[in-house]
Amino acid sequence: MIHYPLGTSATREPLPPLPRAGLPKCPGAALQAPLDSLHGIGSTRAARLHCLGLDTVEDLLLYLPFRHETPARLSRVSELKEGAVCTIQVRVGPCSIRHGRRRGLRILEALVADDSGSIVAVWYNQEYLREAFAGRPEVLVRGRMSFRNRTPRFIVQRHEIIGHKESGPGGILALTPVYPATADVSLRLIQAAVRSALPVARDFVDPLPARLLAARSYPGKAEAIACAHFPATESSAVRARKRLAFEELLLLQVALLERRRAQKVHPAVGLGSPGPLCHAFLKELPYRPTGAQERVMAEIDSDLRAHTPMLRLLQGDVGSGKTLVAVYALLRALDAGGQGVLMAPTEILADQHAERLREALESVGVEILTLKGSLPVGHKRRVKRILGRGHPALVVGTHALIQEDVSIPNLRVVVIDEQHRFGVGQRDALLMTAENESRPHVLHMTATPIPRTLSLTVYGDLDVSVIDEMPPGRRPVKTKCVRPEQEGRAWRLLRRRLDEGGQAYVVCPLIEESPALQSAAATSTYEALSAGELSGYAVRLLHGRMPPAEKRDAMQAFAQGRVQVLVSTTVIEVGVDVANASVMVILGAGRFGLSQLHQLRGRVGRGQDESMCLLMVGANDLESGDRLALFARNPDGFQLAELDLAARGEGQLFGERQTGLGDLKIARLRTDRELLEDARREALHMFEADPGLLRPDHALLAWCAAQRFAGVVERLERA
Ligand code: ADP
Ligand code: MG
Repeated sequence: MIHYPLGTSATREPLPPLPRAGLPKCPGAALQAPLDSLHGIGSTRAARLHCLGLDTVEDLLLYLPFRHETPARLSRVSELKEGAVCTIQVRVGPCSIRHGRRRGLRILEALVADDSGSIVAVWYNQEYLREAFAGRPEVLVRGRMSFRNRTPRFIVQRHEIIGHKESGPGGILALTPVYPATADVSLRLIQAAVRSALPVARDFVDPLPARLLAARSYPGKAEAIACAHFPATESSAVRARKRLAFEELLLLQVALLERRRAQKVHPAVGLGSPGPLCHAFLKELPYRPTGAQERVMAEIDSDLRAHTPMLRLLQGDVGSGKTLVAVYALLRALDAGGQGVLMAPTEILADQHAERLREALESVGVEILTLKGSLPVGHKRRVKRILGRGHPALVVGTHALIQEDVSIPNLRVVVIDEQHRFGVGQRDALLMTAENESRPHVLHMTATPIPRTLSLTVYGDLDVSVIDEMPPGRRPVKTKCVRPEQEGRAWRLLRRRLDEGGQAYVVCPLIEESPALQSAAATSTYEALSAGELSGYAVRLLHGRMPPAEKRDAMQAFAQGRVQVLVSTTVIEVGVDVANASVMVILGAGRFGLSQLHQLRGRVGRGQDESMCLLMVGANDLESGDRLALFARNPDGFQLAELDLAARGEGQLFGERQTGLGDLKIARLRTDRELLEDARREALHMFEADPGLLRPDHALLAWCAAQRFAGVVERLERA
């Protein structure tokens, strides 16, 4: 039995360096031992395994096979044919040893038989077997028939004495594990290494409480590891892997919820009930909030009443009306005599938000401050002074809010728009601007629909609200793929729209690796279009590398209708809202992910006119046609995000908040969704029953979660 320090500290003492030889003494140390400590693994093989990211015995044991090969079928001696590798089960008869023709070669020959016949089996250089065979045991032998010199012989490759105590896992008749291997690291090497490491699996602590194991009839940890590699049956391997994946997901959930609990430990100022500003704002709205908006506002209300900080993520497809909810949350701060911040990822968006807020709040008489990097120093100083006084105020800004030393002493509500555009640290830094102990309430907003598996992992420490209903009267955007030979027609169509008074975006191909190249590409596209297909129209360029004033000017000109076509990079992907723009042209559409295309498409379809999205497919990526056709048919952002997840993997979608995903060794979000839900439920249940996770079985779990996902929590905490 191994004793681990329960709940004493979240950080494990560094293990003492291991002696190169001999058994490590410290419990758990055998798992942390380097691979060359294993029997049969020297430094060369260890170096090869290192290429697979395997350094310790533990790494190796957690490197699970992706499938198992079914064992060889047993042949009968009478059926043996030349050439093919066969396995026979036979009894050993008389043995003899002779010298081979080559110097030093010793050949063991034994007559072996089953009830269909007998044959001479041949072992090279294994004289010692004579002793083992003296008792005439039954053996399994795999090998090949040879008729050299017309003498039938069975050349043995591998054998196993039946009932022998050393015939452990991975015997001839066992399912053999198949691992991801490479040219340098053969499957055989991995198999042998795992076989040699297997006894150490006993040293794993099993973090799962017995209650959970019993309820799911899961095996214990050591057994699960052994069985995942060398199972007796296919189904037991599946069960073992499932158990290990569940454990991993449960540890992640416990780590996330623990981090959440730690956040909620901080006090926040409860904001009571909505006051006059909120009421006036809702009364003045030119439309009725949708049911979904009402529901989310109610969820926010209940968060804001509490004396612990709100930690909520608001998801809603583009155009679902998140702004209304954000404004409401911010006004709650003012109503309570506090300050509110809306932080946007770009200056363009910040400007647009400030303008929207001014319009929306004109009637209720609230002044909106702005703070962005590009503002004159004098302006910034004035804003900071006003904020510093602590009077009720709303400020809209960019990173400048956290980069410049801003003090917002009565900060009560923070809304972070398109939050995945910010690093975790950047966002959290804002929470520290309040000068006293208490934390502000935080609402993160995203227009990227997040599949549930991801919201449970990447955002597992947040409450999630979803606006799953569009404001009435929204017409879907007509989406069409345009092949190279149809381009002429597409531009004609666009010109006709422009002639009728419409406006359009043209988005340039994605060059992910380099914003500089991307801007350059936008510039040349702009030049080509202004001189070619769109000559004579008011065309403007917008890209990330332009000076802020120029960007603002281009955006403004477009919003005011002075510019007909905005040729742009993906800077317009998020949030930008010009109702009169009804055509979105995306060049090199095959390069974009479905979610990204959906974001872009969401820029149009906001006004009265029927809107269009034209996907130009470059000659080089015609193979993306199917994917794009699927996109053209599907208006649902959530479904597209699921498809993206299936096609491109999780990291692609939410690389910015790299929580846990890369850290998962066994569980796979795409296939383990049910396990994830199970783990989430179980973790929530546990925190409910035992908030501090102090019960012994919970404490062990919490300790293991902290060990396993320390990096994740640290990344979330880097404030
Ligand atoms: P999001 O930020 O979620 O993409 P917005 O908040 O910008 O969406 O809303 C998109 C458009 O829908 C805006 O023009 C807004 O005025 C309008 N809108 C929002 N809520 C409603 C509603 N309940 N009824 C009608 N129109 C709405
Ligand atoms: Mg928005």
